[in-house]
Amino acid sequence: MAIFNLGSVNIDRFYTLPRFPGPGETLSATGHKIGLGGKGANQSVAAAKAGAEVYHIGAIGKTDPWVRQRIETYGANCKFLREVDEPTGHAVIYVGPDGENMIVIDPGANVKQDSEFVIQAIDQAKSGDTLLLQNETNLQAHAATFALVKGMRVIYSAAPFSVEAVRGVIPDVSMVVMNAVEASQLCSEMGMTLDQIPVPQVLVTLGARGAMWRSNETGEVIEVTSPKVTAVDSTGAGDTFVGYVAAGLDFGMPIRTAMEWAVQAAALKVTRPGTADAIPTAADVKAFRG
Ligand code: ATP
Repeated sequence: MAIFNLGSVNIDRFYTLPRFPGPGETLSATGHKIGLGGKGANQSVAAAKAGAEVYHIGAIGKTDPWVRQRIETYGANCKFLREVDEPTGHAVIYVGPDGENMIVIDPGANVKQDSEFVIQAIDQAKSGDTLLLQNETNLQAHAATFALVKGMRVIYSAAPFSVEAVRGVIPDVSMVVMNAVEASQLCSEMGMTLDQIPVPQVLVTLGARGAMWRSNETGEVIEVTSPKVTAVDSTGAGDTFVGYVAAGLDFGMPIRTAMEWAVQAAALKVTRPGTADAIPTAADVKAFRG
């Protein structure tokens, strides 16, 4: 089977600063690094490194071919990554002396997805394939509706959180994935408990504790604990988890097995600095499990 991911692609620009600047102030950075980012790209990379057949659907500017090459290097197919007359989405990340950060995102090309192109891409999928979505592009609801009718599994990683986006997309998803903060925001905004959210399956990540899955159809609950690790950098842990769960389900694993695999992969990611580069492969996870 295969995973089709309608997702963002960002260029992350990290600036190391002695402190954060105030309004009107100019400050010199002590370091600058450029990397591949975006929740969409991270999840495609995670699922591809897990061994799944992944097609990334998205849009980037015409001036950044290295971004496409980087995603392809990690194993995801980019034939549905369109080049448009908009800048590639980018994030400006200020990193302070204690590792704290301030982030500004320009979504750029990520929110210029073309409806016809997206539908044509998803139409290449077969019944039983997976559509993966996050909240950093446009057209998620449109894509979800089409995919569900095609008989695809639709997994929606509802981040960054926006209640309007979630309300629009969840009627057509099989499973929504959120972290604990997003889950409580969603429940309070919708005035519902988790079991009342109108979606067949809810998966909540719980940081160092692991993750919890609930079927809102049968009431079954599965909790998986995370292995204990020394955390170095948790950036991308959530995306690693989602990519591995999507890959596990795509391989036909029961949800508990997919979650057990995903918490191992995410914990291993947390021990490594970086995002896409640091997402472990299936072989890394196997070695980590022992
Ligand atoms: P992030 O934004 O940092 O990528 P998130 O906020 O989306 O993550 P979390 O619930 O914090 O989501 O983490 C996702 C998954 O990563 C968890 O379910 C867990 O498997 C793993 N994880 C996160 N932090 C740790 C940790 N300190 N130790 C082990 N595993 C962790």
